[in-house]
Amino acid sequence: MRHPVVMGNWKLNGSKEMVTDLIKGLNAELAGVEGVDVAIAPPVMFLGLAEELLSDSKIILGSQNVDVNANGAFTGDISPVMLKEFGATHIIIGHSERREYHNESDEFVAKKFGFLKEHGLTPVFCIGESDAQNEAGETEAVCNRQVDAVINALGVDALNGAIIAYEPIWAIGTGKAATAEDAQRIHAAIRAHIAEKSEEVAKNVVIQYGGSVKPENAAAYFAQPDIDGALVGGAALDAASFAAIAKAAAEAKKA
Ligand code: PEP
Repeated sequence: MRHPVVMGNWKLNGSKEMVTDLIKGLNAELAGVEGVDVAIAPPVMFLGLAEELLSDSKIILGSQNVDVNANGAFTGDISPVMLKEFGATHIIIGHSERREYHNESDEFVAKKFGFLKEHGLTPVFCIGESDAQNEAGETEAVCNRQVDAVINALGVDALNGAIIAYEPIWAIGTGKAATAEDAQRIHAAIRAHIAEKSEEVAKNVVIQYGGSVKPENAAAYFAQPDIDGALVGGAALDAASFAAIAKAAAEAKKA
């Protein structure tokens, strides 16, 4: 039985004050909420502060990127060993913003995936098509190619315990969310593609939807059989909105 995971991607937003207020708000809003794993990924600068603020909380600490080296002469990079030391376990990789602005290839993302697993961390592995690819009917092919980069490099079992976040790029930060039915169709296709290699892995892997998820549309996604939570950007910066999304996941998956 898959457990839903709702994760907030704070991107490059925050200050000490904002992080403190937001985490205090989330701790209050989410106290006693069961049936959903909730994670947040603040900017790496604030992991120490977030770790302290989450010391009595069930909210999972995550982060937004990792390097493929643990230490050494790699100026500006982020070590999985250091992420672990700050208690960050769920690490977003392959986000379209990193693929686009930092030229991260499928193979490089797969390398990060393997490195996270090696260090006992949970990859939150983002995949998804651009607007043009969507228009051209290439969505499934793009998702399959991105998933295959991991499977070919590491084997299908590497997906065990990892999280896939299906995020159509045209829906990220645009307010133009995929319909729940379209998202379900793609999630089912991704799961079926993985099932060609291993039915067991396909059955157990958590696949989140991401792209303009808000309190207003969240329940419709979580009512779909292959949507196991959400990766949330904009709405994750507001405690009440993010908590409402997490609660919707807990409610839907109770049934
Ligand atoms: C994201 O950046 O991963 C994301 C889904 O953003 P938003 O919710 O703002 O569309």
